[in-house]
Amino acid sequence: MEKDTTAYLKIEFDFNPLDEINKRIFFPNSEIKKITFREKPGFFYRFTFNTNFQYLEEKEDILNEIYIFNSKPIEGDLSEYALLEGDYSINEVPDFKNSYFNAKEEVKKRIQEKTNQISKDLGLNFEKEKDKIEKKFSFETKGFQKELEEITDKLMEFARKGELEKISEQKKLINSIKEKSNFLALEEDKVRAIQLENQKHLLNVENKLKKTTVIRYPIYIFNIDVKTEPLKKSFIINFDPVANDISGLTCESCSNKVKEIFICSSGHATCKKCSIECQSCRKSFCKKCLKNTCEICSRSICKDCSVRCFRCSKLVCKTHTRKDPVSARHYCSSCLKRCERCTGMKDPYSFRVSKKTNAEICEDCFREEMQGKVLKGVFE
Ligand SMILES: [Zn+2]
Ligand SMILES: [Zn+2]
Ligand SMILES: [Zn+2]
Ligand SMILES: [Zn+2]
Ligand SMILES: [Zn+2]
Ligand SMILES: [Zn+2]
Repeated sequence: MEKDTTAYLKIEFDFNPLDEINKRIFFPNSEIKKITFREKPGFFYRFTFNTNFQYLEEKEDILNEIYIFNSKPIEGDLSEYALLEGDYSINEVPDFKNSYFNAKEEVKKRIQEKTNQISKDLGLNFEKEKDKIEKKFSFETKGFQKELEEITDKLMEFARKGELEKISEQKKLINSIKEKSNFLALEEDKVRAIQLENQKHLLNVENKLKKTTVIRYPIYIFNIDVKTEPLKKSFIINFDPVANDISGLTCESCSNKVKEIFICSSGHATCKKCSIECQSCRKSFCKKCLKNTCEICSRSICKDCSVRCFRCSKLVCKTHTRKDPVSARHYCSSCLKRCERCTGMKDPYSFRVSKKTNAEICEDCFREEMQGKVLKGVFE
């Protein structure tokens, strides 16, 4: 990390944590019996960076304050908190190298637009300067070319007239111009001038960490005991006042984080969406508990209300089932047999053949028939 100065600050909240938690979480079908809390330290960081832009004759400094919370940059403003001198040392602060790196990345993002603008302006400016250089050199080259053309014209004229002395004079002149003009060297000079101009137009950006501010604040951990007769349940809930986040209240059916917890009749914590009534006993259950449906009326039913038919093995609700009082077996309504003598729906396995009519009758009717016979015998 670059050399910087570090400040240690802290936030102290002036609210009552119990009031805050009571405003934020709800137990609609149970009662809070006991609630206690302790604190653990939470931290966030402010990194102050100085960015220096250097280009042409310009020098510009920009300050950026980056707030890092849970390792991520946030739009921060400390003005809403009363900050106090922190009474702790670096040893109590968790390692925040990652926070620093992320802050540095964030600075780069925040200055990107400005960097792009300056680069664009510099690029345009460089093109203009380059144009000027090219024009200047082509003007010089053209100058020499014109001179040479004029001399060549003269040379032709002298040749026509046969003035040999003057011809050799002009030839010397041509050579001296060619030496002076040296087109290749001229081209090299031009390239060099453009390179120089390009270097002048480079943008130099430097980010320096000026200050690190560590801010400590309390995170509250609550122990909450709730009761809904005859069940008891305990929750451990974290309340982070800076993140305004509550964790620890989770629906055991859908795993969603919730603010409102219902206790199912088997003691599971459940959200409102996952809390369902048994359509037979009307008790509320969570999705996990209310898996059964009556195979006759397809209503959702709890474990206590589900009965398996002794004959067909169907799972049925209590209204679609009957317990035979003699055999104590449960039958679904479609498996019960109608007794033609008493018209009652009876255990299909208890039918007997009537000695009088040869018809299949229920056990009760059969017993009656037999008793009648006996009585008849007595009175005859
Ligand atoms: Zn749920
Ligand atoms: Zn039920
Ligand atoms: Zn449940
Ligand atoms: Zn059945
Ligand atoms: Zn049913
Ligand atoms: Zn009967």
